Amino acid sequence: MDKKGIDILREPRINKSTAFTTEEKEELGLRGLLPYAVTSQQLQKQRVIDNIRIKDTDLQKYIFLSQLQERNERLFYSTIMDHLPELMPIIYTPTVGEACQKFSHIYRIAKGFYISPDDRGSIADILENWPVKDVRVIVVTDGSRILGLGDLGSNGMGIPIGKLSLYTAGAGIDPSYCMPVMLDLGTDNEALRTDPIYLGYPHVRLKGEAYNSMVDEFVQAVQQKFPKALIQFEDFTTDNAYGLLACYQKQVLCFNDDIQGTASIAAAGIFTAVQATNSLLEDQKIMFYGAGSASTGIADLIIKAFLEKGFSEADALSKIWMVDSRGLIVKGREGLSDIKGRFAQHHHHVSFIDAIRSVQPTILIGASGNGGSFTREVVETMSSFNEHPVIFALSNPTSKAECVAEDAYTWSKGKVIFASGSPFEPVTYNGKTFVPGQGNNVYIFPGIGLAALAVEAAYLPDSVFLVAAKVVAAEVEQTDLDNGTIYPKLSLLREISFKIAVAVAHHLYELKLARLDRPENLETHIRNMMYDPAY
Ligand code: NAD
Repeated sequence: MDKKGIDILREPRINKSTAFTTEEKEELGLRGLLPYAVTSQQLQKQRVIDNIRIKDTDLQKYIFLSQLQERNERLFYSTIMDHLPELMPIIYTPTVGEACQKFSHIYRIAKGFYISPDDRGSIADILENWPVKDVRVIVVTDGSRILGLGDLGSNGMGIPIGKLSLYTAGAGIDPSYCMPVMLDLGTDNEALRTDPIYLGYPHVRLKGEAYNSMVDEFVQAVQQKFPKALIQFEDFTTDNAYGLLACYQKQVLCFNDDIQGTASIAAAGIFTAVQATNSLLEDQKIMFYGAGSASTGIADLIIKAFLEKGFSEADALSKIWMVDSRGLIVKGREGLSDIKGRFAQHHHHVSFIDAIRSVQPTILIGASGNGGSFTREVVETMSSFNEHPVIFALSNPTSKAECVAEDAYTWSKGKVIFASGSPFEPVTYNGKTFVPGQGNNVYIFPGIGLAALAVEAAYLPDSVFLVAAKVVAAEVEQTDLDNGTIYPKLSLLREISFKIAVAVAHHLYELKLARLDRPENLETHIRNMMYDPAY
């Protein structure tokens, strides 16, 4: 260790604070800088969690944890890993949404990397300023569509920071490999632009060529400076999300979590729900409420699953029904984008509720950002022709959920198989307690990222997301299903990520998309890569 004394305590990666031993204090010039007692990491974690639990609000907990990350990285990750179900809603959705809304107001310390239009022509140069040369995972957003909260401009930086914490906590990706990036190309949120405390580029967003060329400069600069890095595109508006994915998916190592990660976790939920209803995927009719990047991404992956079952593309498409704010998406509707048009059905125009009555879907998936839209009538109608209607209310944060867990169980008289995007507390109905599963992308992206790193993938085809979905579905136990949960326990996340990484890595070798020579033992190679925050 080349640092000494106070510099060690100010370096979060090496700081152990009160856990430095008496010998270390002597050797490292720390005598006098720390209290007498030497505490174990275990005891430190107890102190951290006790401190968190006495905070009044989730935002205060978020700030506390964020400061811990800046002070003592290993203690931060070790605490998160020990208390993942409790702390994930703090470091990620829903609290991260509130943190982003207030980001400029709660800003304390430089974290992550900001690129603005002023950096045009010099992005590769400024990437040199990042303190680490071997970056392996970049989460980048332009802040244009943060969770379900809309355009938060540069305040969206909380999302890449939070996501990367989950890469480390969830799959053991070394935090030094991780780089959160804000492509701050303006904001169309006028309230932000006129807020004197707003920290971002206070102009309207770049559009069209001016926008695309900045993103391209960034992507190419990453290839030049960090050629092994996986780029995760996060929370871009649907058009840009699809446009960027189509442009880069097979050119560079990248994926879009809103499209592909969501698709994968929802597909995992569908596979388990089908199992829980003792039916077959082939027998399902799936209706999506909301036809944005989440829904169309899920639909595309499920179509792949149907194709694997021997369906033709047309037969697979006939299983998918999409509803947007104008009602059922039907052939001949004016102004349909290509993305939505692909899912248009031969049917007359109907409203959402009439579409349910007419189509009689077995599975209803909400990804609309339209809170409360699965009304009593919707849930009762779904329950009238399904013994166990499958209803996913995926919109985040909680206030945007299409319905809350309690209503879903109550209105369906306990028949529903329910999952949500944001966490819900268990619900007791008629003496039975249901534990709603959270269809959280965190089950997917850390494991995919670990696989990409482990094999130095050239690029990620869509099929890796189907591989990951199957691994997650296979991890659900009968006891989970008995409680009404269709996702595995969050406490198993690290092990699930490892299994995903192994399965996806094998798949990438089969497809010849790995740039690293195949290690003798892939499992050991992956296990050895996993960061351990113990001192
Ligand atoms: P998006 O903006 O791309 O799409 C939203 C879609 O909903 C659009 O097609 C819009 O037309 C439609 N819509 C809006 N209001 C509607 C209404 N009143 N009736 C019907 N349709 C309506 O957003 P997205 O990326 O698809 O995300 C949608 C929601 O899904 C967000 O709330 C997001 O938080 C959530 N989401 C959840 C997960 C998860 O749980 N794992 C993952 C990704 C996204």
